[in-house]
Amino acid sequence: MAKCYVCGRRASVYVSYLGDYLCSEHFAEYFERRFLEAVRFYKLVERGERVAVAVSGGKDSLTTLYLFSRFAGELGVEVFGVAVDEGIAGYREYKLEALRSLAGRLGVEIIVGSFKEYFGFTLDEAVKALREKGFKVKPCSVCGVLRRYVMNHAAREAGADKLATGHNLDDEVQVFVMNALKNHVEGILREGIVSERAEEGDLVPRIKPLYFIPEKEVLAYTLIRNIYTPFVECPYIVYALRHPIRHWVNEVEDSSPGFKYRVLAVKELARKTARKPSRKPSRCAVCGEPSSRPLCKTCLYRAYLDERYR
Ligand code: SF4
Repeated sequence: MAKCYVCGRRASVYVSYLGDYLCSEHFAEYFERRFLEAVRFYKLVERGERVAVAVSGGKDSLTTLYLFSRFAGELGVEVFGVAVDEGIAGYREYKLEALRSLAGRLGVEIIVGSFKEYFGFTLDEAVKALREKGFKVKPCSVCGVLRRYVMNHAAREAGADKLATGHNLDDEVQVFVMNALKNHVEGILREGIVSERAEEGDLVPRIKPLYFIPEKEVLAYTLIRNIYTPFVECPYIVYALRHPIRHWVNEVEDSSPGFKYRVLAVKELARKTARKPSRKPSRCAVCGEPSSRPLCKTCLYRAYLDERYR
């Protein structure tokens, strides 16, 4: 029987890069300490701020909501959740149910914005149109852009100073690999533990307190702290480039522990040393939201999906 490295009791989690086992109690303590250290070291929040947590109902965002709510007093912040109902039948309703249940347990307010209310169509309806157009644009591309728009708008309207997302180490490594494959250097340089797009007016600064924590550890923490999320997957994930990359990254990590941290270290080094392209903050000519192009991606997709253009 494996024993906890700290107390010698029965271990429940193996932390591969430490090469050690921890019991549930010491693992949860270690996990929470790393969350607090990241928040303090990178000054992700300041006392008196209102922190909106972007919650999808998945384990990472629920964990972020749980942690901010648990340590709100210690950090001196006010916390609430912002969720988006994209309109994905057989998926979103279950995730929202899990989210409402955790929010009720924590006593945290949740604001829900929907694609239907913001754009007049659900993602299911949008995917039908994309299919008719030969899937030249993938569902996740549309979903990601529109979801960010709703999140930012809802958080800003609710007076949020920061928008915290549940992105973990695995997410960051997968996005790094995808950006590298697409030669999207700006995407690599811009997205750190604090998103640099926050410098553009009207965008609520985005922070990622789980940036250095592997997905497997987030899962272990949810089990220990009884943070429940149903095992339903979005039906459109199969169209995402991210799907095969996720498997590849996990395979390499299994055969070479520490691989994900090494990739993140390369990314951080690049972010520190490379010259970032300078961009003047500008606005979309149609909706007036911050955008690096004359027409923002949200308006571009809305026009593409508009019935008159199908
Ligand atoms: Fe949206 Fe793609 Fe995620 Fe589904 S898998 S919720 S379509 S981003």
